[in-house]
Amino acid sequence: MQILCGFVLASIVAYGAYRVHSLNKGGAVAATFVGTVIFGIGGWQWAILLLTFFITSSGLSRAFRKRKAALSEKFSKGQERDAGQVFGNGGVATFFVALHAFYPESDLPWIAFAASLAAVNADTWATELGVLNPTPPRMITNLRKRVEKGTSGGVSLFGTLASLLGSAVIALPAVLLSPVGTLDTNYFLLITAAGLAGSLFDSLLGATVQAMYFCPADQKETERHPLHTCGTESVHIRGWQWLDNDRVNLACGVFGVLITLLLM
Ligand SMILES: [Zn+2]
Repeated sequence: MQILCGFVLASIVAYGAYRVHSLNKGGAVAATFVGTVIFGIGGWQWAILLLTFFITSSGLSRAFRKRKAALSEKFSKGQERDAGQVFGNGGVATFFVALHAFYPESDLPWIAFAASLAAVNADTWATELGVLNPTPPRMITNLRKRVEKGTSGGVSLFGTLASLLGSAVIALPAVLLSPVGTLDTNYFLLITAAGLAGSLFDSLLGATVQAMYFCPADQKETERHPLHTCGTESVHIRGWQWLDNDRVNLACGVFGVLITLLLM
């Protein structure tokens, strides 16, 4: 019954997001699946955390759209999220809600679930708000080096604060609505720190091993492949070709969980 209820609610949210172009068709199907599993197995507390991530991150992608338009050619995807992005951001969370079904007495799946969402939310907030920073970011692997806005691996104080805030926005309901017994302030700090760590790990991968391409027509670095926004075929310049942006997001969530387990 709860699964059915989850399916209905997830379909409504995904359809709405599809209609306002926050998700494409594949993304809406993927989001329906993720939402059904999370609400169906976990319940409303789990669904609220997922929705907090989903609504704030797609809201921020839509906000300040004009100011960000010039940067869209750098990112691998536009604001309409596809199935790869949905699973990249929600895959780890889906895994932990499934784990909760097997170990309903344990509080670990809930905390790990929250940490993974805190990490991907932190990363999204840093990306979406960081580009509004008037000063260009610095490379995470070489803080003396300034890079163009939107460059993978670029970090700034502004972006890091946005990331911290994005993480806390998940950690707060995670602690307040905990379905696994009372969680104190330490858990709020723990989940927030883990989310921030996950998002910094995301930047680190972006600066080092994430697949990066180059558009010969515009002479610009981009994550977009095989075609750049201009239609020209982009060529691989560095990083592991299998490690695309979706997989980096997945790694960001996993890293957030690992840090949580380590700190616990
Ligand atoms: Zn181009």
